[in-house]
Amino acid sequence: AGGKRVTVVGSGNWGSAIAKIIGSNVTKFDQFQDEVKMWVFEEMVEGKKLTEIINTTHVNVKYLPDHKLPENVVAVPDLVEAAKDADILVFVVPHQFLHRTLKTLEGKVKPDVIGLSLIKGFHLKPEGGIELLSHIIEDILKIKCSVLMGANLAPEVAAEKFCETTIGCRSPGNEQMLKDLIQTSYFRVMVVSDANAVELCGALKNIVACGAGFVDGLGYGNNTKAAVIRLGLMEMIKFAEVFYPGSLLATFFESCGVADLTTTCYGGRNRRISEAFVKTGKTIEVLEKEMLNGQCAQGPETAREVYVMLEREKSLEKFPLFVAIHRICIGELPPTGMIDCIREHPEHL
Ligand code: NAD
Ligand code: 13P
Repeated sequence: AGGKRVTVVGSGNWGSAIAKIIGSNVTKFDQFQDEVKMWVFEEMVEGKKLTEIINTTHVNVKYLPDHKLPENVVAVPDLVEAAKDADILVFVVPHQFLHRTLKTLEGKVKPDVIGLSLIKGFHLKPEGGIELLSHIIEDILKIKCSVLMGANLAPEVAAEKFCETTIGCRSPGNEQMLKDLIQTSYFRVMVVSDANAVELCGALKNIVACGAGFVDGLGYGNNTKAAVIRLGLMEMIKFAEVFYPGSLLATFFESCGVADLTTTCYGGRNRRISEAFVKTGKTIEVLEKEMLNGQCAQGPETAREVYVMLEREKSLEKFPLFVAIHRICIGELPPTGMIDCIREHPEHL
């Protein structure tokens, strides 16, 4: 009865898949309370409230159909109500909604809450710099926030297909507790302390995934995509070196690094809508609406955040792949610019 209360803030595709794991794991340990609250951004689905559907059928019919959530996962439409008694907050909303979510929670959570962010992207500050999302969570809520990133396409995790993940821990002493909360026989957790680099990997690989989708859309082959992945990885590493000194190269070889980059460039939503962008000529916003049924692509927005930041830092020329991807997303460069970019990449000069 004295165990920690866990709340999952978010209930999209990944939010629901991780709630399935957490809901099952909490019942295995006395250190956690059995009930897991999941904040659901309320919407109507076929005339019914999504929270009511989830609490009666235990399926998130819109964002993770085909998988039952454990019955101890309770959907809560009120954000403050869902989070106010939590000892552990797992953040998993699309990154464009994080800031307003945190503003609603400001001053309303327990002071010693342990945060864990699964969100990929950056916060663009009004003056043009970027901030890691976990740092925004820490600043606004005055809590410590660790991160979890890995090669974890949500539909595959929900189907219990084997994968690995990486936790970048910022709450020393709580490594095992976080692992107990997340690890299963099919979802293996490595914990490292280099949390900044873990989060950078998760955010930046979504930009590269758009590049992979562009070359797929243009009809190029596996070798071309491998070149995009490799050059993308080089820019990810350089970004960490230049802007987050102290990041470890070894972190790029964890699941959050090359593994997530690879899976997203083959099987992710960012790749899929970027391929369609080239093939149909429709905008990213239109394709997101047409193809993702309410789910969100993080790559194009992350490319914009990084672009604005690099422009301000006068560093555009150091990251030509990230820059070209942003310019293609906004229609400033034709998709064939992707090939020119990788042909002329400074790695080859
Ligand atoms: P998603 O793409 O399924 O997005 C849909 C969610 O956004 C729904 O819960 C919806 O209610 C919510 N939403 C819509 N409008 C909102 C608003 N105004 N305020 C708050 N929420 C709103 O979400 P997801 O797949 O759970 O992704 C969340 C994060 O997890 C992202 O940063 C993503 O990159 C990351 N991630 C996703 C996957 C994956 O395979 N889906 C895997 C790893 C990491
Ligand atoms: P997409 O958002 O491109 O589907 O990538 C999901 C992901 O982050 C897998 O780890």
